[in-house]
Amino acid sequence: MQKIFLYNTATRKKEELKPIVEGKVGIYSCGPTVYWSPHVGNMYAYLFNDVLVRSLRYLDYEVKQVMNITDVGELSDSGEDKMEKGAKREGLSVWDVARKYEKEFFESSELLNITKPNVVCRATEYIAEQIELIKKIEINGFAYLIDDGLYFDTSKFADYAKFANLKLDKLIDTDREEISSFKKNKSDFALWKLTPKDGKREMEWDSPWGKGFPGWHIECTAMSTKHLGDVFDIHTGGIDHIPVHHTNEIAQGYGAFGRQTANYWVHNAWLTGKGGRKMSKSAGDIVTMQELKSMGIEPLVYRYMFLNSHYRNGMEFSIDGLKNTIKSYEKLQNGVAHLPDGGVVNEKYQQKFINYISDDLAIPQVMALVWGLLKDTEIGDADKKATILDFDRVLGLDLGKVTEEIIPEEILKLSQERIEAKNAKDWVKADELREKIKSLGYLVEDFKNDCKIRKLVLS
Ligand code: AMP
Ligand code: ZN
Repeated sequence: MQKIFLYNTATRKKEELKPIVEGKVGIYSCGPTVYWSPHVGNMYAYLFNDVLVRSLRYLDYEVKQVMNITDVGELSDSGEDKMEKGAKREGLSVWDVARKYEKEFFESSELLNITKPNVVCRATEYIAEQIELIKKIEINGFAYLIDDGLYFDTSKFADYAKFANLKLDKLIDTDREEISSFKKNKSDFALWKLTPKDGKREMEWDSPWGKGFPGWHIECTAMSTKHLGDVFDIHTGGIDHIPVHHTNEIAQGYGAFGRQTANYWVHNAWLTGKGGRKMSKSAGDIVTMQELKSMGIEPLVYRYMFLNSHYRNGMEFSIDGLKNTIKSYEKLQNGVAHLPDGGVVNEKYQQKFINYISDDLAIPQVMALVWGLLKDTEIGDADKKATILDFDRVLGLDLGKVTEEIIPEEILKLSQERIEAKNAKDWVKADELREKIKSLGYLVEDFKNDCKIRKLVLS
């Protein structure tokens, strides 16, 4: 087992990970709200989670990753239920919307080689656990009931503002999803929302407080502690979760168990659109994996792009930027795939690799290391391949895979002209054509009765 250091939002420091049980790491990752297609911004978060899990496994930790599916309870900024919004938009039931987008989420994850978590849990399938947890919080004196639901009284938890450095006196309603004029404090949040007296909701359950549905934050505290214990190692999520969702999860942990549920809180920064704005479904500037595919862009190119950013810096995204990345990714993939097999992992490079990943997942440095290794004349080609494929256990770029090359029409035509020139013994013209083909990025190789064309790699 190798030491690993991660930036812990709770202490605002890079800290050595000290698992509760030596050699084993429990991770809870906030999962998607399944009301719309997952986009490159969401997938940035899950790529980060994947690289974290893969790095820990590479370093020989036994990892149990738990991820939730939010299929009930999350409200938009205007207070509207996100699932119901999706159902209205599509003319489907909320249940159908939830399953449709959950499926799309896992399809997108697969296209990006994101390893499936060990446990995936839907909020709607853990209603009993959520009610039990809320009861604990209520018995411990942290909750109060008003007309529209049972609320967490944040004034009872002295350190409420600490995790996110919140200025509670400056909070305004629009900063928060919970809009209720009867709340005691602006930062209070719903543990259980009640169905209005004369109303009926598609998703509602009986509870000790009345018919309704759980508040968004309670599902994560209930399911993380159910699968990983009252206290576990790592909790992940996007930085947007720091001031509200994770702050409230921490409050619930104190309310129920008298302590913070996770020891390390690790957050990814945002994927932004041009101009630095967070890419989001509500802003309407999203790009999905399926859209990338229909543009002829292999989704792993996006994974490659992600690996060149550090998860705490985020990344600016544009389709043009992604297109500019295709060449580098293909160059790397083909470059590695065409190297001979049978080598061994180079220890010097492997040590550097380990140093980088264990330093808060310094993956951009790993990418530079990989390119450096390919150019290193002191390392044999077979060893280069073995070493890079070993790193690919974390990178997940399918670097060993030989992809079928599609040779463009124009190149095929030039090659045919060259064969004709050769048959006519016009060597000058044949050479000129070979050069022309090369200038377009392809190499013609002559064999006895045949000639082969392949894309030039590692120029
Ligand atoms: P949601 O489905 O909106 O709850 O988002 C699921 C996860 O994706 C959360 O952890 C968010 O923080 C993350 N996320 C959403 N948009 C972005 C973005 N533009 N960049 C990075 N992470 C994001
Ligand atoms: Zn969560």
